[in-house]
Amino acid sequence: MKIAMIGTGYVGLVSGVCFSDFGHEVVCVDKDPRKIEMLESGEVPIYEPGLDLLMAKNVDAGRLTFTLDLAEAIKDADAVFIAVGTPTRRGDGHADLTYVMAAAEEIAKAADHYMVIVTKSTVPVGTNAKVREVVAAANPDLDFDVASNPEFLREGAAIDDFMKPDRVVVGVETDRAAQVMADIYRPLYLRDFPIVTTDLESAEMIKYAANAFLATKITFINEIAALCEKVGADVKQVSKGMGLDGRIGNKFLHAGPGYGGSCFPKDTKALARIGQDHASPMVITEAVIKINEDVKRRMFDKLLDLVGGSFNGKTVAVLGVTFKPNTDDMRDAPSLTIVPAMVGAGAEVRVTDPQGKREGEALLPGVQWYDDPYAAAKDADLLVILTEWNEFRALDLKRVSASMNDARLADLRNIYSSRDAKEAGFVAYDSIGRAGFG
Ligand code: NAD
Repeated sequence: MKIAMIGTGYVGLVSGVCFSDFGHEVVCVDKDPRKIEMLESGEVPIYEPGLDLLMAKNVDAGRLTFTLDLAEAIKDADAVFIAVGTPTRRGDGHADLTYVMAAAEEIAKAADHYMVIVTKSTVPVGTNAKVREVVAAANPDLDFDVASNPEFLREGAAIDDFMKPDRVVVGVETDRAAQVMADIYRPLYLRDFPIVTTDLESAEMIKYAANAFLATKITFINEIAALCEKVGADVKQVSKGMGLDGRIGNKFLHAGPGYGGSCFPKDTKALARIGQDHASPMVITEAVIKINEDVKRRMFDKLLDLVGGSFNGKTVAVLGVTFKPNTDDMRDAPSLTIVPAMVGAGAEVRVTDPQGKREGEALLPGVQWYDDPYAAAKDADLLVILTEWNEFRALDLKRVSASMNDARLADLRNIYSSRDAKEAGFVAYDSIGRAGFG
């Protein structure tokens, strides 16, 4: 199959590379010349484990190319995927469909043969129907179908998620489009991964419902964690005891500083707006959005308590700024709320992150960047673990505490325990949903 992939971000690039690894001929398009220049010279513009090797393999095999020229990319395509951003629209919480619709129009103007126009971006219910209208209006003679194919990959494990998905969701209107999509995903089909074929609207809804459910699960355990702190329970034991119930499951049940990232915050907001627009309020999702904001605020209060009520003149070392480990993505990361709040309250903040500096430097003004956690912690008054990178999971805590001015630890990912901190010589320790000291 010949595939064009519009957008070479976290989803488009991973999807394009993986499709080419299936054996398809893939052309990836982006309108950002810097990205295309990097890709053409063999560099990967994002950090995603394993992507560089898989990309190089398929470029070498002649199945994967990159271009700025959308018309050229779709020339012989059987399917063209739209994988551009759908950020939150300023002001009203809606998904901003400007990039999707612009791409649809560009495709329509350049297309001259039958193709399936597939939306991979996360888009509100009704968007694929709008894409159909936009394309038909821009090129009335074009023979085409639209398809909805939402993506469920997780950054940091994106290749594995794409190659071994829990399921692939495909929304279509015609048998012809269903056949093209089946041909594209045939390599997975042969390995027995389920393909759920639906109408367009159900496919669009599945993506929002799944993300809102996962955000709800995280938020639920974060709320339980707050109560655990009040009643003397340990949220790690509580989530273990809950998660072993097969009906609940242990995933997305880790208490932390609130969910972030490029999907959950924007997709929960968009779902809430879709509900309001259709007079069918998403009350649970609306509560989740509010509680998640409260969780981030509660984190700041925790840190303030740990430094005795004032950040003035205090030095804080923050380990991890990306929204989760194994990615360089900073979009809606909890660090973007917590770090500026500490800087604003008078703290001198040092940060370290294995991949976060490139994006983070512009987003976190007024902080100092360090290459390793030990250097960042030296002479500090508070150490904050904000992202659970492997690099921070087995620190020599004795060495850290001995080098600090005031050995206080805020473990916002529950990596360590009170006992670990006490034994290592910390004078104060706090985490999420568990008793601390100091
Ligand atoms: P991104 O911002 O990383 O990438 C989008 C890319 O599209 C950018 O490189 C941009 O330059 C390019 N682009 C925009 N308009 C274009 C056009 N007209 N022609 C060519 N290129 C164009 O976004 P992302 O994180 O990859 O997300 C893309 C979509 O996938 C979103 O709807 C998102 O919700 C969804 N999604 C993301 C993830 C994730 O983990 N990031 C997971 C599942 C779904």
